[in-house]
Amino acid sequence: MIRKFLSRVFGNKPRGRGEPAVIPHSRHGIRREAISGGSRRVAETLQENGYQAFVVGGAVRDLLAGIPPKDFDVATDATPEQVRRCFRRARLIGRRFQIVHVMMGQETVEVTTFRGHHGQWDGARAQTDDQGRVLRDNVFGSQKEDAARRDFTVNALYYDPVTETVIDYHSGMADLEQKTLRMIGKPATRYREDPVRMLRAVRLAAKLDFSIDEDTRRPIGELASLIENVPPPRLFDEMLKLLTSGHSAQCLRQLRAEGLHHGLLPLLDTIVEQPQGKRFVTLALENTDRRVREGRPISPGFLFATLFWNEVLVHWEALQDGGERPIPALYQAMDETLDTQAEKLAITRRVAGDIKDIWALQPRFEVCSGKRPYGLLEHPRFKAGLDFLRLRAEAGEVDAALEAWWSDFLAADGETRAAMLAQKPAEKKKRRRRRRTVRADAEPGRESTDTEIA
Ligand code: ATP
Ligand code: MG
Repeated sequence: MIRKFLSRVFGNKPRGRGEPAVIPHSRHGIRREAISGGSRRVAETLQENGYQAFVVGGAVRDLLAGIPPKDFDVATDATPEQVRRCFRRARLIGRRFQIVHVMMGQETVEVTTFRGHHGQWDGARAQTDDQGRVLRDNVFGSQKEDAARRDFTVNALYYDPVTETVIDYHSGMADLEQKTLRMIGKPATRYREDPVRMLRAVRLAAKLDFSIDEDTRRPIGELASLIENVPPPRLFDEMLKLLTSGHSAQCLRQLRAEGLHHGLLPLLDTIVEQPQGKRFVTLALENTDRRVREGRPISPGFLFATLFWNEVLVHWEALQDGGERPIPALYQAMDETLDTQAEKLAITRRVAGDIKDIWALQPRFEVCSGKRPYGLLEHPRFKAGLDFLRLRAEAGEVDAALEAWWSDFLAADGETRAAMLAQKPAEKKKRRRRRRTVRADAEPGRESTDTEIA
């Protein structure tokens, strides 16, 4: 009801069935200066050449929601070849569904030709797997069809920088106003076509602080297992987006609430069911979210290293109890953990290498005398390893004095370093055995936080 009313308010003029609302600047407030110079020039040039061209998707949504967009994509009715001919520096990307990268100064603008809704455009049925997942989706279409194949109504808004209007086929403006994430079309069908949309719902709701419309949310629980059919590299990309969204703690909590994590992070249940694991992961996610919000870089290796660490600890301990020596036991535990997880997520070899480096550094921090600490400082992943040690100290897994010693050692000059190596920290001997005890005094006031993964 409200939605209908709002869309009537936003709509410029009465429109027929299937006609989009054309929303003027006075209603949406976005000036052409708000979009990137590159995307604006690309859209203008395409229009000068007689084509339709709009900024579309996440950028329009974020601008309207008052969030700085990550990137600006352009959608057009020109074919990739026609787009390429309009620009001096442009290249075609991809084989199945070609897009064009147009280089504008430092900026690369991705230009996509309107995509048709499979099966309706040329009479051909889209290829799907047994569960209805779309395997081919590569026909050009009209703007209307392009809007219909997008996922959420707020993601199907087109901004025309020339007229400063927003074209809205699915009442996305009204949903933005109501802070609602709503699937275009029949949610269950759209999730079957592409189960990643379930993850996108969770991620975008957390990012935008929107609620997921009840009809859009309901089928997720039932269809969650379809995630397992998604090719692992795509899951890896999506998980990375989710974890680096600046809202990872909220996203993982929601994933668990919807039962979506089973196919993604099989270890997540075991991790968060143990108080120590839960505490560590919670701190790690909060730490990541803080970094993202402060605009500091985060590495996928570090992130996944934190998520799976507790599992490594469990294996490591078991192997040592079975008589294995500590370092070989650690390496074996690392491999076992990564093998379990990597299959689902297609963790790339480079990221897996980073993860192992960070883990393998941990026992090396135990040595605070002799020449070895100097060697450790030179390790290319030293900083990441130390950040990891800091999290472990915060979680009460290692003595805070150990992390403090290393931070001091890193900051000290040559003379001070030599002096530090000569004196032995009193706690050193106790450290290893305390690993698995949660220290209530590790950090006052951090025992339980409201962002913990429930
Ligand atoms: P963000 O960039 O903040 O991660 P986004 O919505 O821009 O979010 P992109 O992956 O950049 O996400 O996708 C751009 C647009 O493409 C979306 O806004 C949406 O319109 C469309 N889109 C992306 N993924 C899907 C999908 N799985 N199903 C349907 N439409 C999609
Ligand atoms: Mg985007």
